[in-house]
Amino acid sequence: MALLEVDNIEVRYGAIKAIKGISFDVAEGEIVALLGANGAGKTTTQKTVSGMLRPSLGEIRFDGKRIDGIPAHELIHLGICHVPEGRRVFPRMSILENLEMGAFRFKKPDEQILEHVFEMFPRLRERIKQQAGTLSGGEQQMLAIGRALMGKPRLLLLDEPSMGLAPLIVNQIFDIIKEINVEGVTVLLVEQNASKALALANRGYVLETGEIVLSGTGKDLLADDRVRAAYLGEE
Ligand code: ATP
Repeated sequence: MALLEVDNIEVRYGAIKAIKGISFDVAEGEIVALLGANGAGKTTTQKTVSGMLRPSLGEIRFDGKRIDGIPAHELIHLGICHVPEGRRVFPRMSILENLEMGAFRFKKPDEQILEHVFEMFPRLRERIKQQAGTLSGGEQQMLAIGRALMGKPRLLLLDEPSMGLAPLIVNQIFDIIKEINVEGVTVLLVEQNASKALALANRGYVLETGEIVLSGTGKDLLADDRVRAAYLGEE
């Protein structure tokens, strides 16, 4: 049984059907990438898994239990943590306060995890009292990931972690995602940067206008002519 099973879900914004009956799964310990052009439905899919949106049809199961329709703030208690598009750090709070917010499901933040986040991201420790809104884009991404880790995720949902970041920082972020995964966290990754995402992911799914049009191992998709032409800018 997969950790996450998405079974034929449809998601609407009013009359607009953004997701048209997609199915996919993520096994415990995997990194799975959702790829696709702007507007394909990647963010909508991820928001539906994390409970921010509710599917109009279909089922989502986590660890064998139905979770569609359960709101995000409750899913966090199951260990489903979402790092949204655009990071969404709390700009007027300090780095430490942002990290503590990530642990809101516990009575108090776990000091060991906090220490681990600071080991992963030494920049955050150096700036612990600084307001999050004054950080660079890369630092805010690190903070958003660190905040999610404070919630002890079993499944980490990452929406476009590389967006708007310099190549060097993107590499650092991808290294960290790998490290987090090796430490036992399952990852569902939405990315525009298809080559990097597929190099990292065990498997991937390609979305086009709300439907899955291709799926396979990261390696196979990276070698697929259709993926290369559409998402890697190759003829
Ligand atoms: P992007 O990389 O641009 O975020 P995406 O693949 O994540 O793209 P979604 O943001 O999930 O795509 O959007 C899927 C479809 O749903 C698009 O046609 C989009 O216009 C539409 N959509 C997204 N959010 C809303 C909304 N709040 N109201 C109405 N339509 C929406």
